[in-house]
Amino acid sequence: MSFADLGLSDKVLQSVAAAGYSQPTPIQTQAIPHILARRDVLGIAQTGTGKTAAFVLPMLTLLETGRARARMPRTLILEPTRELAAQVEENFERYGVNHNLSVALIIGGVSFADQDAKLTRGVDVLIATPGRLLDHFERGKLLLTGVELLVIDEADRMLDMGFIPDIERIVKLVPFTRQTLFFSATMPPEITRLADTFLHNPVRAEV
Ligand code: AMP
Repeated sequence: MSFADLGLSDKVLQSVAAAGYSQPTPIQTQAIPHILARRDVLGIAQTGTGKTAAFVLPMLTLLETGRARARMPRTLILEPTRELAAQVEENFERYGVNHNLSVALIIGGVSFADQDAKLTRGVDVLIATPGRLLDHFERGKLLLTGVELLVIDEADRMLDMGFIPDIERIVKLVPFTRQTLFFSATMPPEITRLADTFLHNPVRAEV
């Protein structure tokens, strides 16, 4: 299986070639065609398997049509830590060099003002840690009713860090009719329960 067989756009294929990847990893082969078909995906994969590109590459392809509106992000990616959120942003920069997309990072320890300014201009991809995202929401600076695609990454780490109540709140703020991608390295019972609640008829991709 080659990257060209997965259904990714030409722009994305160019950036994959520039990154020097010869072939997709197993999680990419399993997940990308379903994400492009707008299916929900339950991805069971560790860091290091190419999991980030497995959602970033198809998201870039899907975002090539449509445009962002002020304060209403089109897609939302939840990460447990600032470091992971920053790594996902780097992936969007690397693979999205040919795209003119607005990507915002909403994490703690950074001033609200810069983040607010970016949200006001409109963002295609919002990458956030749960607490800081809810802070912005409570300040009335953010609407989540335009989210077409939600990614919950590192779900088992979210559980370990006590973020599940925040995640449940956030999921109630995004539209019910959305696409959801849920990634976890392990599937303890609490995470299986959450996946069952958040995902609609998901495809399971396990490596
Ligand atoms: P991740 O699992 O998302 O943390 O990715 C681990 C590493 O694999 C990152 O440094 C990526 O640059 C790299 N990577 C992702 N996809 C591929 C691929 N198809 N071929 C080779 N390396 C890749």
